[in-house]
Amino acid sequence: ELARTTHGFVGADIAALAREAAIDAVRRIMPKLDFEQQTVPQEVLDDLRVEREDFVKALKRVQPSAMREVMVQAPTVGWADIGGLDDAQEKLREGVELPLKNPDAFHRLGIRPAKGFLLYGPPGTGKTLLAKAVAKEAEANFIAIKSSDLLSKWYGESEQQIARLFARARQVAPCIVFIDEIDSLVPARGSGQGEPQVTARVVNTILAEMDGLEELQSVIVIGATNRPNLVDPALLRPGRFDELVYVGTPSVEGRARILGIHTKAMPLAGDVDLGKIAAATDRFTGADLEDVVRRAGLNAIRRAGGEVREVTAADFADALEDSRATVTLQMEEEYGRMKGELK
Ligand code: ADP
Repeated sequence: ELARTTHGFVGADIAALAREAAIDAVRRIMPKLDFEQQTVPQEVLDDLRVEREDFVKALKRVQPSAMREVMVQAPTVGWADIGGLDDAQEKLREGVELPLKNPDAFHRLGIRPAKGFLLYGPPGTGKTLLAKAVAKEAEANFIAIKSSDLLSKWYGESEQQIARLFARARQVAPCIVFIDEIDSLVPARGSGQGEPQVTARVVNTILAEMDGLEELQSVIVIGATNRPNLVDPALLRPGRFDELVYVGTPSVEGRARILGIHTKAMPLAGDVDLGKIAAATDRFTGADLEDVVRRAGLNAIRRAGGEVREVTAADFADALEDSRATVTLQMEEEYGRMKGELK
């Protein structure tokens, strides 16, 4: 149970938690003890048992260090690392890269760039990749957060964390704030993740922060979701995540490009035809294709051991045998429908 409730804790955080729980256990027995001035008597230590309640109390104070500090990244992937998704790339180039790179031009013309984009589509299609790539191409910083992390009750102080996140983003602007799993921020339904009140507060804090983002302050928020139909409508209103970008499964040309990208560093035998593999991988996502390449590489190593020189068509054929598209026909139809409804 402890392991589960300490999601996001690093080793040092767990050590701090154990220490705090032990302190709480001593406090139960010696409420008046001053830890700064006095040592705990040996007979108390001999009988000391750290109970569940001590950990529960300690968890309220100890936060994972990753949440205390906002991690600013400078992404290394760019447009060249993305296969297919031409429409989505185009939208992000115009809506994010252009205004972040030319704020003065937008200002002179009195054009307000959008503050929030919502990338939606099946998992593994490259939403996170797109957000990172647009940050790199716009020469912007990148701060990423998972919505479920904001709701995790042990993190506590979600509002403060969000405020810190946006403050940091303004400091390091131009900056992209990437919020993944935005569908888990639905107060009414709860998502099994946070308590409904916590969720409502998190949503309101994010909205307030976004409302407070002056246009041209060079902070743009990109949200992502696999379940656009579950996203809180409050998040989609004008001035918030009002630019919707569909990120779907790649076309056959897109798949060939993606296979090319992921085999860049792989010596391929002359008989490997990426176009043919692309044709045989209908509905495969970028992540699925990356996995096919990885499996083919492993097959080559298994076959040739340390002597492996190249990856052959047979290695790919075996890899395809073991692979399946994550996105089913039915899912694809559903996304098509949602796309129509969200327009
Ligand atoms: P999502 O955020 O949509 O769930 P990700 O961006 O996390 O998907 O994709 C996971 C991984 O799959 C990426 O890091 C990348 O290696 C690969 N991938 C997914 N889509 C593409 C794509 N269009 N082009 C190249 N690689 C891709």
